[in-house]
Amino acid sequence: MDTITHYIGGAKVSPGARLGDVFNPATGEVAHRVALGGSAEINAAVRAAAAAFPSWSATPPLTRARVMFKFRDLLECRAGDLAALITAEHGKVLSDALGEVTRGLEVVEFACGIPHLLKGEFTEQVGRGIDSYAFRQPLGVCAGITPFNFPAMVPMWMFPVAIACGNTFVLKPSERDPSASMLIAELFAEAGLPAGVFNVAHGDKAAVDALLEHPQVAAISFVGSTPIAQYIYATAAAHGKRVQALGGAKNHLIVMPDADLAQATDALMGAGYGSAGERCMAISVAVAVGNVGDKLVEALAPRVRGLKVGPGNDPESEMGPLVTRQHRDKVASYVDLGIAEGAKLIVDGRGLKLQGYEQGFFLGGCLFDHVTPTMRIYQEEIFGPVLAVVRAPDFETALTLVNDHEFGNGTAIFTRDGDAAREFVSRAQIGMIGVNIPIPVPMAYHSFGGWKRSLFGDMAVHGMEGVRFYTHPKTVTARWPTGIRSGAEFVMPTMK
Ligand code: NAD
Repeated sequence: MDTITHYIGGAKVSPGARLGDVFNPATGEVAHRVALGGSAEINAAVRAAAAAFPSWSATPPLTRARVMFKFRDLLECRAGDLAALITAEHGKVLSDALGEVTRGLEVVEFACGIPHLLKGEFTEQVGRGIDSYAFRQPLGVCAGITPFNFPAMVPMWMFPVAIACGNTFVLKPSERDPSASMLIAELFAEAGLPAGVFNVAHGDKAAVDALLEHPQVAAISFVGSTPIAQYIYATAAAHGKRVQALGGAKNHLIVMPDADLAQATDALMGAGYGSAGERCMAISVAVAVGNVGDKLVEALAPRVRGLKVGPGNDPESEMGPLVTRQHRDKVASYVDLGIAEGAKLIVDGRGLKLQGYEQGFFLGGCLFDHVTPTMRIYQEEIFGPVLAVVRAPDFETALTLVNDHEFGNGTAIFTRDGDAAREFVSRAQIGMIGVNIPIPVPMAYHSFGGWKRSLFGDMAVHGMEGVRFYTHPKTVTARWPTGIRSGAEFVMPTMK
């Protein structure tokens, strides 16, 4: 069986003694082993990135952009291969994996514009004969720690912007589906990226901790679950690093009584069960406002029962397996919990068995009705194909539910009433909002990030927030001698 190993300084390096299993979630079999690095491997990766920084940061932005353009073309050519790797290790259906690659590629396209994005500011005559200008410079070695659910897109939220800005990068991908990052490294090298600018170090907590504590790492970008995001934020900040740590979610979709019910039902099916609910922007709570609840549940139930669940590489499948057996069992245990808490289970996906895939990590779609805010299945992120319908008498109650929840990643409202939609957009304490759009993931040239316990740190990812995160400003005040000497001044300078 092959071992997926680290990519450091432009070459694959031998794995150490610690290895992890990488599964094919559709069959339940171990498909590969992955190296689990520790401080030795992280030191080597950071050293390689630090050695590459002086030359890469001094490379003109236009030249850096040209590497990005080539990388973008190679990514497009190899999108099918990258998607196949994602499906094989994550389990999501191939068309969805291709969608993920496209959303990542869009960030590379954004980064191709880096000469324009790094243009600075200039003010002539801030004082007599004195000019001032400001520009942004890269930070140094930046690191990305990413989750299993988007093994290509989430790393691509980070490194294209970081590298285009002139930084060098160490990626610590999820140990569950590490192959996508290896193909990305290969394509980057083919595009002409100098060795050491992009490195991949595999591992688990030991590798993460080594990055958080490493004195030569300037910034940490993290995406994953909320408890780990909070730990990353606190630890990296305590070690003097710039940090953005994106966490979990419990996204609500509000269905107003005047909504187009067919549209809302379609939206809930895709956003609730697409990628088996393993998306940070998945909808896991449908809030039925007024009298819409019964009609909505009636429309949803047969669709959830009829979901085509199967291996991700079968073009007929709408939903693949979950990522690991342990995660599938955890999601199923939330279904048990919901019943015990008194929610009404309308569709039960727990018994699903697929012929030929009996050992796969499958779970059928599950639908709960009459879920209430005191239940743990409402409060906690389940991260699986389990949709909870909550009933709310009116708009204000629905909005309060959204705002009282600890997470603030995404939300959506389905309505034909512009006034209700505008009010919702204005008052929801949430980072990303959809109006008749169930998964409002911002495009690459806007920024992605939640509020409350869905993001720790000040800046979101990609778009201009990303450029600001990966650079620091420098402001210069300049005077060229005129021959007139006024002598030393001991008061705070003010411009005359
Ligand atoms: P996770 O938090 O378990 O792992 C994320 C990363 O942290 C991985 O690289 C992992 O190796 C590392 N890690 C895990 N445990 C650690 C520990 N104790 N100490 C240090 N590092 C550790 O998350 P996951 O299960 O891979 O991904 C699913 C989660 O990610 C969900 O909660 C989902 O909502 C969230 N997510 C959020 C966003 C967002 O944009 N907010 C996007 C995608 C996923």
